[in-house]
Amino acid sequence: MSFTLVATDGAARAGTLRLAHGTVETPVFMPVGTAATVKAISSNDLTEIGAQIVLANTYHLWLRPGLETLVAAGGLHRFMAWNAPILTDSGGFQVFSLESRRQLDEDGVTFRSHLDGSEHRFTPENVVHFQEALGVDIAMMLDVCVKLPATTDELEKAVDATSAWARRCVEAWTARDRTLLFAIAQGGLEERLRARSIEDLVQLDLPGYAIGGLSVGESREEMERMTRWCAAALPTNKPRYLMGVGTVRDVLAAIDGGIDMFDCVYPTRCGRNGRAMTRTGELHIKNAAFTRDFSPLDPHCDCRVCTTYTRAYLAHLFRANEMLGPQLLSYHNLYLLVRLVREARESIAMGTWRAVRETSLARLE
Ligand SMILES: [Zn+2]
Repeated sequence: MSFTLVATDGAARAGTLRLAHGTVETPVFMPVGTAATVKAISSNDLTEIGAQIVLANTYHLWLRPGLETLVAAGGLHRFMAWNAPILTDSGGFQVFSLESRRQLDEDGVTFRSHLDGSEHRFTPENVVHFQEALGVDIAMMLDVCVKLPATTDELEKAVDATSAWARRCVEAWTARDRTLLFAIAQGGLEERLRARSIEDLVQLDLPGYAIGGLSVGESREEMERMTRWCAAALPTNKPRYLMGVGTVRDVLAAIDGGIDMFDCVYPTRCGRNGRAMTRTGELHIKNAAFTRDFSPLDPHCDCRVCTTYTRAYLAHLFRANEMLGPQLLSYHNLYLLVRLVREARESIAMGTWRAVRETSLARLE
């Protein structure tokens, strides 16, 4: 298992990440399958879309179906019938979002399930062991997340706690031949704290590094600035993962800033709500203008949905609350992002990334 940089164009990078269940070509968009399912999308669809790696979530899988079922199934890949790479998030973000239902201490965090109120406890060690037992290709460390805006004091404490937990995660990490362990840098929008977080984590010489605590309510300009800054501060020979990014504009900015991996629920959430992402911007399919629009959803897209169905039909499905509507729009939105990122990779390799990026951005105007 290793990461190889194959081309750069400005700060943008193309690489290959070899994992236990296959090789991922970067930059890569990872569809989010929180509860071991990318909502409304089958594993066959994911293959057809060209998804190389999917993301699942420790917090949700811990609560349901739980470790025993997942181990009895033969691991997460078998359970969800997906034989390509899987990355699991540590659940830190979800647990810290629970606010009144969680209690942080030096050793870990105790929380109440959003499902039934039952009490659970995450420690850096048991979160690593859980992900290893699931047999995932990439496990994320348990980090301490802070909601923005936050005070410098709050951010500083989160950085120090995350660094201390990272050292414990490395101690607990045993399945090194199968599961790569990535660290998550914190520090909000303050360069001094980001620098400290990255310096602490890079000392641990891990297989990859994520930038956490962004895309959580700050402006797009702030997010882009901090992404670029963090990417430049991270080692060049390791994959860089920006957590929670998935609009066309944000993906283009992340790639341009030197990010290799990103994930977001955005394409599938939009798809379920009738919002289609297209190369020329987003449209709401339930808009009256589409009732008799017999053109494809996105004329620039060659996916199964755009080559088969019309906007008028998709609009009808949503108006009639037919479940095929959310399925088809989710499929198209994922396809669009996966293809956009694949084209970005090709242009980086050919040295034409800047022109491709500018054309893509101009189309969105
Ligand atoms: Zn399409």
